[in-house]
Formats: sequence, C-alpha cells, structure tokens
Amino acid sequence: MAVIISGKEVSAKVRADVKAECELLKEKGIDPGLAVIIVGNDPASRVYVNNKKKACAEVGFLSEEYALPEDTTQEELLAIIEKLNNNPQINGILCQLPLPKHIDEKAIINSISPLKDVDAFHPSNVGKIMIGDYHFLPCTPAGVMELIHSAGIDVCGKKCVVIGRSNIVGKPMSMLLLHENGTVTICHSKTENLKEICSNADILVAAVGKPKFVKADMVKAGAVVLDVGVNRDENGKLCGDVDFAEVEPKASYITPVPGGVGPMTIAMLMKNTLMAAKIQNNL
Ligand code: NAP
Repeated sequence: MAVIISGKEVSAKVRADVKAECELLKEKGIDPGLAVIIVGNDPASRVYVNNKKKACAEVGFLSEEYALPEDTTQEELLAIIEKLNNNPQINGILCQLPLPKHIDEKAIINSISPLKDVDAFHPSNVGKIMIGDYHFLPCTPAGVMELIHSAGIDVCGKKCVVIGRSNIVGKPMSMLLLHENGTVTICHSKTENLKEICSNADILVAAVGKPKFVKADMVKAGAVVLDVGVNRDENGKLCGDVDFAEVEPKASYITPVPGGVGPMTIAMLMKNTLMAAKIQNNL
C-alpha cells in the first residue's frame, strides 16, 4: 500500500503561507495583483480561470479578468498585454492556453514581461530555469517538486523517469529533478523500451495525457509515482495518466487524480505572483 500524497493538503498549506506573506506585504502598502486573460469559450479553460480567481481571492490578491471573445485579433490581445505590462497594480499576467488557432501562442508568450510572467513560459524565464538561476518556476512541475518535498523524499542520486517532454510540463519537470541531483531520463512517444525504462525508475513522473497509461508492470516495487495527467476515462470520470488501482499497491508513494498535482498548479501560481510583487517592489 502506497502513501497517498495529498495535493489538497499540501496546496492548502502553500496558499496559507502565501496569504500570510500577502498580509505582510499589504502592511507595507503593496497589494499583489494578477491579471488573467481568457480568449474564447473553452469550458475547461473557463473552469481553470475561475479556480485561479477564487485562489486569488482566498490569498488576498487583487485579480483582474479579461474575458475576450473568440474572434479577438492577435493585435488586440498584444495591446492588452502591453497595457498590463505597464500597469504597476498588476504584478502577474497569465494568458490561459490554448489560444484560438488564429493567434500565435509564441508571440503572446514572448510579449508578456518576463518579470510578470508568472507561468514561467517566456523564453527568458525558461533559459533561467535551464541554468538554475530563476525567480519563477513553471507552476505544474514546481507543484510536483513541492509534493515530493512534502513527503520528505530525497531526489539526490535517484533514477528519475519523466514520461512526456512538453515545454509546459515534461521538459521543465526533468530540469527541476536534475537540479536536485536526480539522474533523469526523459521519455516520449518515440522512446523504445518504455516499459523497461519506467520499471527501473525510483521516481516516475507521468505527463502523457493518456488515461491510465502507466500500468503496474511499468512501475518498480517501492517507486514514487507522480501523476500529472488530467483525463477522462471510458465512463467520463476524471483520471490521471497512471492506472491508480493497479499501481498504488506497488508504489511507495503516489499522487491521486483528482486531488494530487492539479491543486498544486494553482497554489504555485499564487506563489509566483507573490514573488513577482516582491521583485517589482525591490524586496
Ligand atoms: P502534451 O503537450 O500533449 O505532451 C504529452 C507528452 O507525452 C509528449 O511529450 C508526448 O511525446 C508524450 N507521449 C504521448 N504518447 C506517448 C506514448 N505512447 N509513450 C510515451 N510518451 C508519450 O501534454 P502536456 O501539456 O505535457 O500535459 C500532459 C498531461 O498533463 C495532460 O493530461 C494534461 O492535461 C496534464 N496537465 C495537468 C496539469 C495540472 O495542473 N495537473 C497541468 C498541465 C498539464 P511526443 O513529444 O513525442 O509527442
């Protein structure tokens, strides 16, 4: 039986710490603010944006929402971002992805001031993560690391396998494990012998986007298994990339879906926004 690492509990602690620090900043006259931009009517994006606004209210941040219609042009979006870049009341800017097809995501990411880029997607912040000299960490991988730390797991010297190499999750996840001296292997859709590689991992992170993809025969007995996936199973029920029922008895630690990595992402966004407010006020 594995220990279940609860993202619900750990994220509540992170948000409580952010709230306490936010109160101290307010005493100094600093009121942290996050702008969230959503373009179009994607229902999943709507849910994420609502949750982000709720988290802002909970920790005491000002939050501004820009809900833009699907046919917003790239120029219109860039103009809004430029205004927000220059607005001292806004410390963090988040543009919910995916954007409609007619908008170039790269151009939008590049237009957000790196100092306000609380998603840590700007190439300058990505580069900083690569060299280990950063202010902001991408929220989901940072959330996974927080879960690992909360369970008292030492990454140093461990065989770590990350399934997935996206810019948002897989690649930065691998880098954070490497920074903590893990021996990291990154797997993707062209990886040969995936099962063999995964079943050697002491720490296995699944960021594939395929429901219940990781089965018990891909997991070493006693491994730590972190499930980033957010999928629907054949019955429409929320599930991760790991087949929890099969893998849990074999793992030493495991994160559930829901209630694992998911809540951490928003908590880490709050942490990044607080950091942005501090940096912009020379603290
Ligand atoms: P993504 O951009 O689609 O990347 C998926 C990765 O999985 C790719 O690198 C892909 O390889 C790899 N892959 C696909 N099929 C594979 C296979 N059969 N064997 C090995 N590797 C395979 O997805 P993402 O944005 O990283 O997200 C991954 C999952 O995490 C999704 O379920 C997403 O919803 C979830 N997510 C959750 C949070 C959260 O807050 N909890 C945040 C972000 C994402 P190639 O590169 O070769 O195509």
